[in-house]
Amino acid sequence: MRIDIMTLFPEMCDTVLNESIIGRARAAGVFTAKCHQIRDYSTDKHRRTDFAPYGGGMGMLMQTQPIYDCFMSVCEQAGVRPHLIYMSPQGKVLTQERVKELSQMDNIAILCGHYEGIDERVIEEIVDEEISVGDYVITGGELPALILVDAVARMLPGVLAEEESFEEESHYSSLLEYPQYTRPFEWRGRQVPEILISGHHGNIEKWRRQQALERTAERRPDLLKKAELTKADLEFLKSIGFDEDDE
Ligand code: SAM
Repeated sequence: MRIDIMTLFPEMCDTVLNESIIGRARAAGVFTAKCHQIRDYSTDKHRRTDFAPYGGGMGMLMQTQPIYDCFMSVCEQAGVRPHLIYMSPQGKVLTQERVKELSQMDNIAILCGHYEGIDERVIEEIVDEEISVGDYVITGGELPALILVDAVARMLPGVLAEEESFEEESHYSSLLEYPQYTRPFEWRGRQVPEILISGHHGNIEKWRRQQALERTAERRPDLLKKAELTKADLEFLKSIGFDEDDE
């Protein structure tokens, strides 16, 4: 998979993408991520990329020309026109489901806004999808883009070590993950649940499933509507007083 990021802060993106699990996978060539400096495409003699908005108002807006030319160059370098995502607080909030779908594409490009955002005309001209990382506003699209790349890349085969399965993690199957514990067995008077040291895999699996169901019912009951629940799951939820119809 190839991911192109268009930004005014490519070093910021590169630095993060060179670290830890994602950095190792990138270095090993499991996926390709290229960060492009939008300013390099400005035809302005001072390499400007932003201007005050028409109609007045606060702040500056990123202009159409450098972004458009940067994207044309990305298309040429990638050899295809990638699916272009604009990170925006006005987009659809990112979900694990969308992450999964995006991880199956061969090419995506990500546009990071800054200042007050981007001239609407270039969004209409080239953007395929707007994605938000939540209902709040931050100063630039770089951190949201990095969240997206991290979430997408860790679903690619070969990025996570075999033992780090994402299939049991929160949101993968619309359930929050069960609580987890490591050494020591006792810490500040709190012990690890006995069942986890019983060595009985069947019982441990059942306990974890029930913990995941209980946690989801308590914290995010809205998710249970999308989860695939067995008869045993429904019976368990009923036994802890959770009634689906209440939601
Ligand atoms: N004036 C814009 C508005 O009200 O919709 C917000 C601009 S924001 C200060 C600057 C840039 O940060 C945006 O162009 C976008 O790329 C990015 N950004 C801010 N919040 C975001 C969010 N929740 N999700 C994704 N991107 C975000």
